Amino acid sequence: MSKNLISICNLSFKYDAEEVENVLTDISLSIKQGEWVSIVGHNGSGKSTLAKFINGLLTPTNPNSVNINGIDTFDEDKIWEVRKQVGMVFQNPDNQMVATTVRDDVAFGLENTGVERNEMKNRINWALQKVKMENYLNHEPYRLSGGQKQRVAIAGIIAMLPLVIILDEATSMLDPMGRKEVLETVWKLNKEEGITVINITHDLEEAIFSDRLFVMNKGRISIEGVPKEVFQESQKLVEAGLELPFSLQVQSSLANKGIEIARTCLTKEVLVNELWKLKSKT
Ligand code: ADP
Repeated sequence: MSKNLISICNLSFKYDAEEVENVLTDISLSIKQGEWVSIVGHNGSGKSTLAKFINGLLTPTNPNSVNINGIDTFDEDKIWEVRKQVGMVFQNPDNQMVATTVRDDVAFGLENTGVERNEMKNRINWALQKVKMENYLNHEPYRLSGGQKQRVAIAGIIAMLPLVIILDEATSMLDPMGRKEVLETVWKLNKEEGITVINITHDLEEAIFSDRLFVMNKGRISIEGVPKEVFQESQKLVEAGLELPFSLQVQSSLANKGIEIARTCLTKEVLVNELWKLKSKT
């Protein structure tokens, strides 16, 4: 993990110039190649708008505000290059299926960019293997489960060989099983293929395992850091309208009853271990 792949510097934005409030205010952040980061925040805090700047759907009003892999997105001539490098998975699985078979669905983006036939076939097979959907080549997408549809959508994206995948609330309409499938798939792509992952979510449980997280509140980044640091700011997280992960809620209830646990326990397993240690001391 080395160079900054994404750099955003003092970015402010409103959709409508007449609006008083900004949708984004003074956002600065950088993300390194190969990182898994989460952008968390309540509905309306500006997460999707920020994502649209990262994949070039929105362009900044000033130069040197948004740089993706060396490209300043102020330069509209290069915007297609940025869009090729950053793939996005959206919330609703049904809106992302565009063809009548899984194979054609994954082929869609490749056909549009004129990839040669043999290369296309290889990439489709590779991408479907990566998301564990290789046995569904001729299946009709609409018959698949939500988690399977999202995995096919991810296959369509990785077939284009992007550097970055943004999941924009991509698990929020899925059942727990589908959610697990999608997160495990993206986790593997991050670890094995080195694809940079940005997970946008309002669910702090999902952010626990990221390398770093950015918490958004009313268009600003209110906290950033590694999970251990960020989760110590429970007051600010609650102010941002977020629900604390289960293990932190238990820890806070225990603290109210006078039972203090020295470290921040982000998972149930760690919490149980700490409670076990406390019990052994008594
Ligand atoms: P989040 O992803 O955190 O829910 P969004 O970035 O979607 O937040 O929205 C931030 C704010 O921008 C909200 O107040 C929303 O109503 C407004 N907004 C989002 N998209 C548009 C748009 N296309 N036109 C005008 N306002 C928008």
